[in-house]
Amino acid sequence: MHISAAASFLYGSDMMAKANILNLRTDVKYLNGVGPKRAASLQKLGISTIEDLVTYYPRAYEDRSSITAIGELFPDREDCIYTVIGIIVNIREKIYGRYRSILMATISDGTGYLQVNWFNQRFLKKSLTVGKRILVYGKVGLAYGGRGMLAVTRLISFELLESGAAIQKQGILPVYQLAESISQKYIRRLTENLWASDIRIDEIIPQPIRSRYKLMPRQRALQSIHYPGNNEELTKARETLAFEELYVIQCGLLLLKRDSQQGIDGVRHLMSGSLVNSIFDALPYSLTEDQLKAWKDIEKDMEQQIPMRRLLEGDVGSGKTVIALMALVKTVENGYQGAFMVPTEILARQHYEKFTELLKETAIKVGLLVGSLSVKKHRDTLGKIANHELDIVIGTHAIIQETVKFAALGLAVTDEQHRFGISQRAALDKKGEYAPDVLVMTATPIPRTMTLTVYGDLDVSRIERLPPGRKPIRTFVRESDRRQLIYEFVKKEIVAGRQAYVVCPLIEESDNPDGSSHHVPSAEEIYNELSQGIFKNIPIGLIHGRLKKDKKQQTMADFYENKLSLLVATTVIEVGVDVPNASIMVIENAERFGLAQLHQLRGRIGRGQYSSYCILVSGSKSAVSRERLEVLRDTTSGFEVAEADLRLRGAGQFFGSMQHGTGDLKIVNVMKDTDILLRARQAALETMADAEALESIRPYLMLKYKDKFSHINDA
Ligand code: ADP
Ligand code: MG
Repeated sequence: MHISAAASFLYGSDMMAKANILNLRTDVKYLNGVGPKRAASLQKLGISTIEDLVTYYPRAYEDRSSITAIGELFPDREDCIYTVIGIIVNIREKIYGRYRSILMATISDGTGYLQVNWFNQRFLKKSLTVGKRILVYGKVGLAYGGRGMLAVTRLISFELLESGAAIQKQGILPVYQLAESISQKYIRRLTENLWASDIRIDEIIPQPIRSRYKLMPRQRALQSIHYPGNNEELTKARETLAFEELYVIQCGLLLLKRDSQQGIDGVRHLMSGSLVNSIFDALPYSLTEDQLKAWKDIEKDMEQQIPMRRLLEGDVGSGKTVIALMALVKTVENGYQGAFMVPTEILARQHYEKFTELLKETAIKVGLLVGSLSVKKHRDTLGKIANHELDIVIGTHAIIQETVKFAALGLAVTDEQHRFGISQRAALDKKGEYAPDVLVMTATPIPRTMTLTVYGDLDVSRIERLPPGRKPIRTFVRESDRRQLIYEFVKKEIVAGRQAYVVCPLIEESDNPDGSSHHVPSAEEIYNELSQGIFKNIPIGLIHGRLKKDKKQQTMADFYENKLSLLVATTVIEVGVDVPNASIMVIENAERFGLAQLHQLRGRIGRGQYSSYCILVSGSKSAVSRERLEVLRDTTSGFEVAEADLRLRGAGQFFGSMQHGTGDLKIVNVMKDTDILLRARQAALETMADAEALESIRPYLMLKYKDKFSHINDA
């Protein structure tokens, strides 16, 4: 090892850093050329340690691996980016007015002449002088008015080369995301120097996995991702690093799962008996194949000592609620209590009514715990939960707050899980001396394999097909000048006995952003317009988040009981609300909603036997927003909507809304790296089964997830 070389590379007074070989935790300030000012700028890019620098992956590459002689350039080849090296033989400057200028250089390599232009960069005049050797990288065409002379038509980058020195090996160069006062050249120099220094990067992935999955050594992969020798090497390096990124997440999630299931006893439920079966028999329909399969999975989990950690995934309207009900009844049958958590109060009340109805022939006592209860009622309910006077409690996530003490919680179900973060899931685990079973339900459609990344700590059951007899929802995209026709159609359906929703993005007029020229009609305005106009003699209601609780509940109840034919609403109706007679939904200014949200909204209709229509009224004529909306017109599959959403919005935002808490994906492309994900998942499963391998990666996981997975740390 060349300690002295390393030492000369470092500067600063930190003896530790000086004496040691660089490692990933070393502060970048110990690198040559990083003073306090630069360190601050680097920090803005998220780079403060060597590890940050090493994982500051290039956003693109410049392939300068072959240098083309000017005599061999072909002009106007769309996909050809050339690297040319020549001597500046002539330089001219043209100035237009105060701010505009062109610097025109002619370069030659002995095989021909090439013109290169710089616009409005007069400061370059000092360095670009005749006789200098220069490398240019870009697209080539015919010079404007140049009588057949070639010119660089799109200059991607250029570099002055040491004159006299032999032409350096150029290769494939990294292109980094930049920030103020940090140039491409500067970061390149840092990464180049880094790899020229004595640095040692340890492996994370256990050896048997590394060889089984044919991974590059980590250090080489990191080096190659910045400076690949060729494209093949780049591909291999990227695969290795993407694998590593996903593998670490998968191991973290599996470890979380294991630790939440081991070391603490769960509830071993008995085989389902007469109570569960009586519910089964009382259902007005028979379960679909998918529902039965999911129910079998859940029964099996509940009958084991290990706590259940299961996700039930199914599109809106696929019939998850009844599965939850049966699981809750099963826990009650075994002498335990069940909790059912939903994201909104409206939904809690609706489930409460449904459950009370379905369970009225039994002795099961159902309670409701929501924020709007009077203080006394709230206290009463807490008391009844604590002394087991209630068997099933339905409520908002207030249920998992500290103050709620169950006498004997056997099962916790959370509906529409995307609203609950991973930490809230973990909070449930800590409620007693034993761990209750946990069933998580979600209708947030996410691309199939991404389930593994977001919910990798859970076992998964899926309801893929909707119950039979549903007429598919037909979706239309219309511009707002067609509203008259749209509402005439709605009226016809209402006269035929159906009900309709009209969803608006804003509550009241003043919710329009200040100074916006484009006025978006609010729910209140639409309500006024419709109730005084075309729906004058038809009972119509208005519901939104700013109404008083009682008012909201009353309106919802009236719509439920068909006392209202049309409901003007905001997204408060988004989740779970179930009115089978409602078969039409008009969404005003649909372009203002996310695709997944529109899909959720649309799931409120098509729940009965009637033909259902969703009309997306676009307030924008832009092609992009139309294309987005047409995704919904073309598919009713939540998974397909999710994939399109992911494609159109990018992974960052998509996962941002998921609170998956597993850290950023720096190199993985969630759309394209499905195969790698599946392999990484497999490798993580193998690791869990291999005590030695697990011990070797465990310390790393602890460090990486110490805040996100506090749970693991407690173990
Ligand atoms: P989600 O999965 O969105 O929570 P729900 O549980 O609310 O869906 O179910 C939607 C509707 O389908 C409800 O009205 C429910 O009664 C009905 N349903 C559920 N399962 C079946 C089935 N097997 N056959 C017919 N209708 C069903
Ligand atoms: Mg539901």
